[in-house]
Amino acid sequence: MASKFQAPRGTFDVLPAQSRARARLQAIATGIFQRAGYETIQTPSFEDTDLFERGVGKSTDIVRKEMFTFEDKGERSLTLRPEGTAPICRAYLEHGMHKLAQPVKLSYVGPFFRHERPQAGRYRQFHQLGIEAIGTASPLADAEVIMLLSDLLGELGVPGVVLRLGSLGSLDARAAYLEELKAHLHRHEGDLTADVRERIDINPLRAFDSDDDGVQGVMASAPTMLESLSDEDAEHFAEVRALLDAAGIGYELDPTLVRGIDYYTRTIFSFVCDTLGAQSEIGGGGRYDGLIEQLGGPATPAVGWAAGIERILLALDEEEPALGRDAFVAIADPEQRGRAMALVTELRNAGFSAEMDLGGRGLKGQLKHADRIGAARVLILEADGSAQLRDMTSGEQRAADTGNLLGEMTGGEA
Ligand code: AMP
Repeated sequence: MASKFQAPRGTFDVLPAQSRARARLQAIATGIFQRAGYETIQTPSFEDTDLFERGVGKSTDIVRKEMFTFEDKGERSLTLRPEGTAPICRAYLEHGMHKLAQPVKLSYVGPFFRHERPQAGRYRQFHQLGIEAIGTASPLADAEVIMLLSDLLGELGVPGVVLRLGSLGSLDARAAYLEELKAHLHRHEGDLTADVRERIDINPLRAFDSDDDGVQGVMASAPTMLESLSDEDAEHFAEVRALLDAAGIGYELDPTLVRGIDYYTRTIFSFVCDTLGAQSEIGGGGRYDGLIEQLGGPATPAVGWAAGIERILLALDEEEPALGRDAFVAIADPEQRGRAMALVTELRNAGFSAEMDLGGRGLKGQLKHADRIGAARVLILEADGSAQLRDMTSGEQRAADTGNLLGEMTGGEA
């Protein structure tokens, strides 16, 4: 029955069987976020292109190659959001949230769009959930957001998770280090790929992320940011680590850790899962103390992370069982359909899941259908107005009083 139409490359349909696992994930995440005071925010699916060019950074892969950018009818350049932090900072400024009690703690979930080469765990439309704590430079906030992602992955039961931790230092302190790194890269230009070479002066840190053997060789002897942290940045990082140690959260220090977005400063982190193959990062983030200023606001330190819902589900590799139904109301005679509908409604209003046949089946067909959709009980309305309640597991059947339907449903075994 396939038509010539398919979901576009790199996109996918979330079918009901997969929706159940997503719903569980989101319910657990929402509980964790709410208990920690991270209220939900929703921003549009597209923004002015300029927001991402400034926020994410013109030298990043995301902005250079991966944005779905289009012109609207008023010739404004818009972009389907590739990430959530720049839009949230835009909203923070637009709605004067700097006047609220700080930090403003926010959470989000939704679709994001990047024109990447599709493969397992990497899509062109994917879903992220994430949190941001905006308006605090305290290492406590870094530790809190990291702990919440750790809690989420723990509560979901994601196996084989490792937390990698690094620090990029603050923007001013980083400048001297970047000059050192650029000099190192220039000395070894011959061993670099064209892509890394072209970005030596605009984004030298990205060389740490290359999977090319030649580049990796050059980076093995490169100076690292972690060795070059200023006293203040080193102290901040030491406090974050001490807080994680105190909370019993294990991590690996990774002096070469970098992220694909330019706005990060100081703490960065990445949760990876060893069963995921090439796209092993489940979620990650860090501090972005300069972003809000970069977008035209006052200097506002902030920290947050995003996690990929599809990656988490891949790592879990579990199917949620089908939901089943509490009851199915079957009719032996079409004349009973109005009554059936009223009883189904009564059951639903009382909190039971209940259905009736919408397909004109005979009684036998209705019972078969009730079985296929996993109904626990079937109420059969006879032509003479009497009713039977059948337990679908035991097959037992007895007369039922539809005037006391809720009593019949809760009155023990049928
Ligand atoms: P980022 O916004 O790049 O820091 O990514 C945060 C998380 O989003 C990653 O750890 C992944 O889990 C997920 N993610 C990023 N890009 C994709 C993609 N193209 N497809 C699926 N998940 C993605």
